[in-house]
Amino acid sequence: MRRIGVFVCWCGSNIAGTVDVEKVREAVKDMPGVVHSVDYQYMCSEVGQNYLKDAIKEKNLDRIVVASCSPRMHEATFRKAAESAGLNPYLVEIANIREHCSWVHKDKEVGTEKAISLTKAAIAKATLNEELVSGTTQVEKRALVIGGGIAGIQTALDIADAGYLVDIVEQTPSIGGKMAQIDKTFPTLDCSACILTPKMVDAAAHPNITLYTYSEIESVNGFVGNFNVAIKKKPRYVDMDKCTGCGVCIEKCPSKKGKSEFEEGLATRTAIYTPFAQSVPKVPVIDKEQCLKFKTGKCGICSAVCGTKAVKFDQEEEIVNQTYGAIVLATGFDLIKLDNFGEFHNEHPDVITGLEFERLTNAAGPTKGKFVKPSNGERPKKVVFVQCVGSRDKSERGKSYCSKICCMYTAKHAMLIKDKYPDTEVYVFYIDVRTPGKNFDEFHRRAVEEYGVHYIKGMVGKVMPEGEKLMVQAIDSLSGTPLEIDADMVVLASATQAKPDAVALKRKLNISSDLNNFFTEAHPKLKPVETASAGIYLAGACQGPKDIPETVAQASAAAAKAIILLSKKELTNNACVSNVNKNICSGCKACSKMCPYDAISIKMMDIYEHGKVIRKEVAEVNEALCQGCGGCTVSCRPGAIDLRGFTNKQIMAEVDAICL
Ligand code: SF4
Ligand code: SF4
Repeated sequence: MRRIGVFVCWCGSNIAGTVDVEKVREAVKDMPGVVHSVDYQYMCSEVGQNYLKDAIKEKNLDRIVVASCSPRMHEATFRKAAESAGLNPYLVEIANIREHCSWVHKDKEVGTEKAISLTKAAIAKATLNEELVSGTTQVEKRALVIGGGIAGIQTALDIADAGYLVDIVEQTPSIGGKMAQIDKTFPTLDCSACILTPKMVDAAAHPNITLYTYSEIESVNGFVGNFNVAIKKKPRYVDMDKCTGCGVCIEKCPSKKGKSEFEEGLATRTAIYTPFAQSVPKVPVIDKEQCLKFKTGKCGICSAVCGTKAVKFDQEEEIVNQTYGAIVLATGFDLIKLDNFGEFHNEHPDVITGLEFERLTNAAGPTKGKFVKPSNGERPKKVVFVQCVGSRDKSERGKSYCSKICCMYTAKHAMLIKDKYPDTEVYVFYIDVRTPGKNFDEFHRRAVEEYGVHYIKGMVGKVMPEGEKLMVQAIDSLSGTPLEIDADMVVLASATQAKPDAVALKRKLNISSDLNNFFTEAHPKLKPVETASAGIYLAGACQGPKDIPETVAQASAAAAKAIILLSKKELTNNACVSNVNKNICSGCKACSKMCPYDAISIKMMDIYEHGKVIRKEVAEVNEALCQGCGGCTVSCRPGAIDLRGFTNKQIMAEVDAICL
């Protein structure tokens, strides 16, 4: 007979508010095998854990059931406590009576009834739990950072400084990301390039960092400590080893009419180009769609003028395979397209986005920092900013969330104009001004009080081009007064959004994302930079809208997590791995085809069956590779494959305990 101890946790009022914890304990205290039962306010606290440890020793318990929060939260805590009292950690079973009961039921009776059922099920399963022993795997001492903006650069520098090898994979021809496009940063108004470009140079020069720019993630296999990643290097048509970055090819290229992506379409670029003057690496790429040589077979001037013969029209895509112990995602964000916001007439050259504004005021931008109207090069005298364009917008065309950075960058833009041209009239239309960061509110107050920016609470209904003017029609929602402003320029703070390829990437990495396609953290408070997949971490705006200080802080946090992982000699494997009954196995390969970790191979073996040895193909599980997902167990038609710790018998015992 088992000697099972049941510990029912109140979780303060989190569980006890909706579940009658004493009733739960009463209901299970006489179940077969249960010899000890208690309920306590916080089982995860030191006192709670000591109750558990003492009871194991004093009552000679051989199985433990903790009815508490989700196993994702504290299974490891209770397993550790049991282990320290001499019990195999896999003899601990959790009944989730918080997320599955108290958090989803309002009615105490219903919640209590369900909690009793779940605790009974856990006791039934615990009765069948066996001691399990974990194996170990080696950790590859190399990290992959996907994305080369400020989040990726900071993460890579921190990991590299700790002595580990790091590869940065960046989609575009240069690292730097959105921060490279920005003029000044809030709330200090320091020059973005001055703080970013030295970091870009450091990343490129660091002996532990390898840059894969103009590259993408092709596939990811494997598991924590050993991710096998295929990186696709797109052809630059320029040999990176030979190119000196002299730029003569760019100067001589006759095809000059491409829209510069870096300048947000406010300037043109040649077919062979570097995105911006401080690009890292300073090696150009050829835009095949624009290049005359690719389009007509004629030209080839860049190749002719290149002193090192670096231009290679026959360069092909290359796949690099590499193994990594840890992966950090730092893929950043995009701004929404404004095609569905016709009322703002964004197609008008003088109706621009916040990012276009950054290029227009940037000393390295298309106007060399002169803030002029794109339509005619004249200085605008009246500028209207519209906040929340597509943010906090529950309609299909917008995003329901707050983009978080727009209130601050709009205040910054307004101040930058007033700083350069104090006689400019500047208006900001807002729903609310949200400035919760350090020194943020003071920054916004400066815009209003020191610079005299007119903040008007209200949404703009329409922007109508009229001659040289843009008539902005709005309502001051505090006074209810309709307003019309004859602006020279309108700047739209368009909503941020997840990168369009975030969904494809999450599938490759087997991680999750929220409704808006931002990657999801494992726990919003306790695991803000981890994903639910071990060894994969998040940095920056790929997780949700973020400003630069937050992004950098999160990047260093993700780096610290990766460093902790890489510093381990070996990792303890999950002991709950699958196991094949070779007598029942028919060798159909269904399990090996479905295993996402390639943990199952089919082998010819001698099997002892019905008194004789027969030779047949059977499935064999590599326990070091198996991650215990259980996919194979449901694909096996004869029921030959079982997951240790979650066997069919255990699961059926749980079902019986609930139903019978
Ligand atoms: S374990 Fe099951 S699914 Fe896998 S090969 Fe054998 S019979 Fe087929
Ligand atoms: S449980 Fe099965 S499908 Fe999942 S990793 Fe292990 S062998 Fe592969």
